[in-house]
Amino acid sequence: MSHPVDRTDLRPRFWMRFPLDRLSDREWEALCDGCGKCCLNKLEDEDTAEVVFTRIACRLLDGETCRCGNYHCRKAIVPECVVLTPGTIADVAYWMPATCAYRLLWEGKPLPDWHPLITGDAESVHAAGMSVRGWTLPEFEVPIEDWEDYIIQEEL
Ligand code: SF4
Ligand code: SF4
Repeated sequence: MSHPVDRTDLRPRFWMRFPLDRLSDREWEALCDGCGKCCLNKLEDEDTAEVVFTRIACRLLDGETCRCGNYHCRKAIVPECVVLTPGTIADVAYWMPATCAYRLLWEGKPLPDWHPLITGDAESVHAAGMSVRGWTLPEFEVPIEDWEDYIIQEEL
């Protein structure tokens, strides 16, 4: 996102009290921990549908802030960018990072203790080492045929 998430004046512990399709737009946006992991380019095995992440970041991702360079117009610039909604989460959760707040809640799991909604600090995701800060490569620096050299082996 191009600006820090506004987490002021949200319903207390809304993520524990209401289902995903009963959240306000601001509550939905506030769930994003700002890790930037979903903005890494992925490779999918055509036969097994297995998805692996690479260190190659989407062209709009800022590798230091881990935010989208043009969040509001991202679909026009990056057509393949997936816009998460309560209606799309069921289709995309299988490849979302294991720590993604949307995936966790959709799977009925709690948010981790480093999530900004728990800590009250947007930096806590980075301090916990759970974001992509500082270790991505911009996609325009690496030819697509070489992306498999940058596959991340660990679970994200
Ligand atoms: S993986 Fe989930 S929590 Fe992290 S930036 Fe993407 S949508 Fe937000
Ligand atoms: S366009 Fe989509 S995938 Fe690319 S940085 Fe922005 S939110 Fe992430």
